[in-house]
Amino acid sequence: MFLADLHMHSTFSDGKLSIPELVDLYGQRGFGAIAITDHLCEDQTFLGKAAGYLKQTLTRATWPLYIEILRSEAERAWHQYRMVVIPGFELTKNSVSNHRSAHILAIGATEFMPANDDVLMLARQVRAQGALAIAAHPVSTRKVEKQTFHLWDRREELRAEFDAWEVASGPYIFDEVRESKLPVVASSDLHAPIQMTSWKTVFECERSQGAIMDAIRKQRLSYTFYRDPAGDREVVKNDDVTHAAFPLGSRYRADHLGNVAGA
Ligand SMILES: [Zn+2]
Ligand SMILES: [Zn+2]
Repeated sequence: MFLADLHMHSTFSDGKLSIPELVDLYGQRGFGAIAITDHLCEDQTFLGKAAGYLKQTLTRATWPLYIEILRSEAERAWHQYRMVVIPGFELTKNSVSNHRSAHILAIGATEFMPANDDVLMLARQVRAQGALAIAAHPVSTRKVEKQTFHLWDRREELRAEFDAWEVASGPYIFDEVRESKLPVVASSDLHAPIQMTSWKTVFECERSQGAIMDAIRKQRLSYTFYRDPAGDREVVKNDDVTHAAFPLGSRYRADHLGNVAGA
């Protein structure tokens, strides 16, 4: 049995930690698998272009380096920690309307693809490269941030197009998703170490990318709330904390509010 986190961001988009730092953060805590899922925004829309200028998204230019670092860090993570590192990205469609915004995780994806198409076509393109399409934070995240309701609004139509839907994101569990009987995963959407205290997915399969992806498809998994042993110390030390209710608080960095790439 091992813990996995299938949604996190590095300095290739709006995360605070580099990919090696993410590997060490999880490896030192005994996790069995992580997926690194930096934002990949649209390149046609105003918000998507703004994200590119602000270096909040993967681009065709940064993609080869991203994949190369993911490959070498996957090797190191396995030798050092027996931890599987799965490559991926988060297709990020942000609109001024919450109901037109959608974030789609591509887990196990190694080919760059623009986020410009309709979500149904995007999910099919993700799966066509052998990756899993996962609906990220599909309902209200209870945070002061851009909300992404488009996938949830179309959940009946999209049911067969997605491998799983996030039933929890960070410290929040989504009753709507839990009651929907849709296939699920639970992840942190980690942007900084303080967000380690969050929901995670638990697997009982072999520690390999293929076995983990198969377990998600077959829903042989459970989820649990993980309390980071280092979490309390960091809260006390960190001046940026704006929510006293940690770990049930939300954003702790004011500069993330209004971040065009969203969470
Ligand atoms: Zn997101
Ligand atoms: Zn995210």
